[in-house]
Amino acid sequence: MIATKLVVRNAISKLLPRGGHDAVNQTTSTQPGQVDWEIYTTGLNGVDNGENNLLSSLLYYSIAFLAFVLILSHIQHLILVKLRHILLLHTNTREALLYWATPANSTVSFVKRHILWAPVGKIKHNREIRLSNAINFGTLPTRLQAILLTLYLASNVVYCTILLNWHLPRPQLIAEFRGRTGVLAVTNMVPLILLAGRNNPLIWIFGISFDTWNLIHRWLGRIVALESTCHITAWTINEVEISPIGWQGVLEKIRESHFVLCGLIAGISFLCLLFHSPSPIRHAFYETFLHLHIAFALAGLIGVFYHLKVDKLPQIIYICICIGIWSYDRLFRLVRLLYRNCGRRMTRFRITALPGGGGACRVDIELTRKWKYRPGSHAYVYLPWVSMWHSHPFSIAWSNNPDQRVAWNENCDHAERRDSSDSADSNDTVSLSPVGDMADIEKMTSTTIFVDRASAASSGKGTYMQRYSNDIPWSEKNTISMVMSKRAGMTKTLWDMANRTASKTLYFRGFLEGEYGAQHGLYSYGMVVLVAGGVGITHCIGWTRELLNLYKKGRGVARRAVLIWVVPDKDQYDWCREWFDEIFAVPGWDEFLTIQFYVTRPKGDMLVSPCPHVPAYAGRPDWRGLFNRFVEQRLGTMGVTVCGPGTLSDSIRYTVREQISNASIDFLEESFTW
Ligand SMILES: Cc1cc2nc3c(=O)[nH]c(=O)nc-3n(C[C@H](O)[C@H](O)[C@H](O)COP(=O)(O)OP(=O)(O)OC[C@H]3O[C@@H](n4cnc5c(N)ncnc54)[C@H](O)[C@@H]3O)c2cc1C
Repeated sequence: MIATKLVVRNAISKLLPRGGHDAVNQTTSTQPGQVDWEIYTTGLNGVDNGENNLLSSLLYYSIAFLAFVLILSHIQHLILVKLRHILLLHTNTREALLYWATPANSTVSFVKRHILWAPVGKIKHNREIRLSNAINFGTLPTRLQAILLTLYLASNVVYCTILLNWHLPRPQLIAEFRGRTGVLAVTNMVPLILLAGRNNPLIWIFGISFDTWNLIHRWLGRIVALESTCHITAWTINEVEISPIGWQGVLEKIRESHFVLCGLIAGISFLCLLFHSPSPIRHAFYETFLHLHIAFALAGLIGVFYHLKVDKLPQIIYICICIGIWSYDRLFRLVRLLYRNCGRRMTRFRITALPGGGGACRVDIELTRKWKYRPGSHAYVYLPWVSMWHSHPFSIAWSNNPDQRVAWNENCDHAERRDSSDSADSNDTVSLSPVGDMADIEKMTSTTIFVDRASAASSGKGTYMQRYSNDIPWSEKNTISMVMSKRAGMTKTLWDMANRTASKTLYFRGFLEGEYGAQHGLYSYGMVVLVAGGVGITHCIGWTRELLNLYKKGRGVARRAVLIWVVPDKDQYDWCREWFDEIFAVPGWDEFLTIQFYVTRPKGDMLVSPCPHVPAYAGRPDWRGLFNRFVEQRLGTMGVTVCGPGTLSDSIRYTVREQISNASIDFLEESFTW
């Protein structure tokens, strides 16, 4: 065992340059032959800084190696997708489509089926593990994620334990352990902070979505918290065992030494982060969790910064990098927010309460400047009147940008039609029941009452919101739309407020931050299958229009698209009725697009389709049967995208994995939770 450790240690030493001083054998004697053990409770005494630096470099090298492999495979994927796109754009013949329809390589299919897309177990990946409606233990990683996380965790454990100099006397060994865990905790903080940001550049570099980085962020957080706890525990053990006054000595050091106090504050902050972040707490009180999370993270960062600064420790550079990354993310968010919302007009929101599926709001947003959004992307919504400074992510479902309209109706202005009907609506909103509307709103938010009363008093012209919705006509020409299904927080407040008004419509000023996501396009597939569950339609409907648009303009590769929408309640069709009508108005839309509508909990015996163009089925789809048919009828590579509840995503993932050896398929999943 000792021989193995020495071999590993020597191999690492040869591989990497060692920095810092090596204090493994550093002991100070008070008298010849007598060791002063107390030195191991302070500073770098007993800390093997050279080896710590070496191992922290090794940790970064292993991340860099993994990044290199991932980036190579991403570049290879991008080249393949681009090549397929360009070739099929120029020769979109049956033969060409046939070529791309068969899997090129059985090994790639095997890796996709059993490692890349496979959940740890058989089926469950995105479906949350729940004890009850309120207690949610989160989701399970895929096999690849699990393997990589286990390897990383194991390397940290090995560096902190097996690679210690176990032959040293106990106090010196504990001091070495203290140094090792402290240095590795700080080393891990850099990727930890990097992966937490919305504007994490790795999302684009690797084409990996925010929720995957978020998963890694959570595991890194656990590692940092455990390592810093070990660091503090090791210091305490030495202090208690060596100091003649035991625990009293610990308390005195905390009182007297800034170095110790700052370290302790950081350690406690990391522990708080560890204990308040588990999935049941995170999901049950998301906003509270988020605010506490930021507060503890800041306390942790500042604590470590001063802890390292007081003793002029070289690892302070890592904390400076962390602060830099964090500031970059916040600054970038601010710039995006200002760009999207400040202009001649401010961003305005029109909220309409919709029936069906336990309630949802259609949210139309009048933009400050033109925005050609990427289908499948999302933006963060800030509605200060409803939820103060909180921001919530929502997919952008639709846009009235003329560039994104389907080719045939470029001159037929849907927006104008809605403009005229809507200006009547918006007048109704106020003239029908102005007092009632405001009374409702006042009941809901005290902030609104304050602003409204103040502005009403100062102008004498009525309330702020009434004036705002009345005075400036709403324009449909530059809007994007979302659907927000009612949950328990902001979305519920919003729905309640809109639902209580006579016209079910409200106007707010608010802010948008985005756009985010949509790293992967569906442009290079001959056939696209879009599966939506409930409000997941917001992710799919934009893609449906985009692909139809390209098909009609003769600029698309896709020859066929199938949209399957599974809902519990038929009325949910009304969430998107207007958008579907716009699609059905395109001549020949059905040559390209098939829509299937499944109602899992139909009311009564007879299920009447909500629209003559859309066949409606009662119950859940037979995914295996459907995908067997799709695979038989496929044209070129098949792109499958799913967005909806975890159970639905897992079923589609499983079915696609079953088919991967028969057909060339890509699977893209969008989830509405992290
Ligand atoms: C990329 C993405 C796109 C989404 N698109 C849509 C969409 O098009 N339509 C739709 O109805 N929903 C969408 N969601 C979900 C939506 O963000 C949440 O339902 C909403 O934030 C809940 O707000 P609430 O205060 O009512 O939630 P609560 O009832 O307080 O919490 C419900 C759950 O929502 C999540 N959540 C709450 N607040 C936030 C937040 N600030 N940031 C992230 N998650 C939060 C938490 O997991 C929480 O458990 C999307 C989520 C993501 C991540």
